[in-house]
Amino acid sequence: MTTEFALDSTISGNQSKPWYQRPHVANEPAGFADLLTATVATLNTAAVHAPCVLASSLSAEDMVLFHLIAREQLPIHTFALDTERLPKATLTLWLDAEAHYGREIERIRPAADRLQALAETQANSAIFESKSARELCCTVRKTEPLRRTLEGKAAWVTGLRKAQSAGRAQVPHQEWDAGFGLEKFNPLADWSDEGLWYFIDRENIPVSKLYDKGYASIGCDPCTRPIRFDEHPRAGRWWWETAATANGSATECGIHVVAHKDSTQPENKVIA
Ligand code: SF4
Repeated sequence: MTTEFALDSTISGNQSKPWYQRPHVANEPAGFADLLTATVATLNTAAVHAPCVLASSLSAEDMVLFHLIAREQLPIHTFALDTERLPKATLTLWLDAEAHYGREIERIRPAADRLQALAETQANSAIFESKSARELCCTVRKTEPLRRTLEGKAAWVTGLRKAQSAGRAQVPHQEWDAGFGLEKFNPLADWSDEGLWYFIDRENIPVSKLYDKGYASIGCDPCTRPIRFDEHPRAGRWWWETAATANGSATECGIHVVAHKDSTQPENKVIA
């Protein structure tokens, strides 16, 4: 068990239950007010880099950012990648969030010709049989549409947090994204699980119902499963391929560049 997940269990008090449950945090964590002020400041800095966009996966983190952008009325456009493999709960949240905030989350789809070529190349089930097939699916459905959407933008905002995994432990608030060629802002980099769920409850921010059904990290439907309370939060992503490693880092899929590690290394060009 990693240190960070031991914290999760303590917060949620769910050690007696077999499946992960999202934490409910009634009391404001120490230092949270200052953290929130710093987060809003980072978002304001990001907004100066126009045009700036929020790349949302409809995760709890991205819903917090969508909430803050709406509350602060920042000129940051939001989009999400519709891979055509998203869970129903994510699609429902998408519509609910747009209605709740009166703001669009632009729907970015894979290119039709690339989807057709993918279908002619491999069956849907191929992603479970080889890593290269899985990576091709992620490239067509995620990375290519993302790259297309980020073209011409000056900055993008993500919900990456240091606490999510060992692989994200060095996430900075701002970095040059060499992979996509623009500034990248991670305003929630220093947010703990405790602060995240405290703020979500305090502000009544809509989040996926799957967080109440054993899901700690939510992606495409075929590639996401519920986790037990003692598994790493990202253990439910591409679990058949490379399960969470001993140091707590789980498989990533193909979106986030780890420029703060070593962007000269090919393996660091695109991951998520
Ligand atoms: S997460 Fe799974 S379904 Fe989604 S794009 Fe990647 S391989 Fe395809």
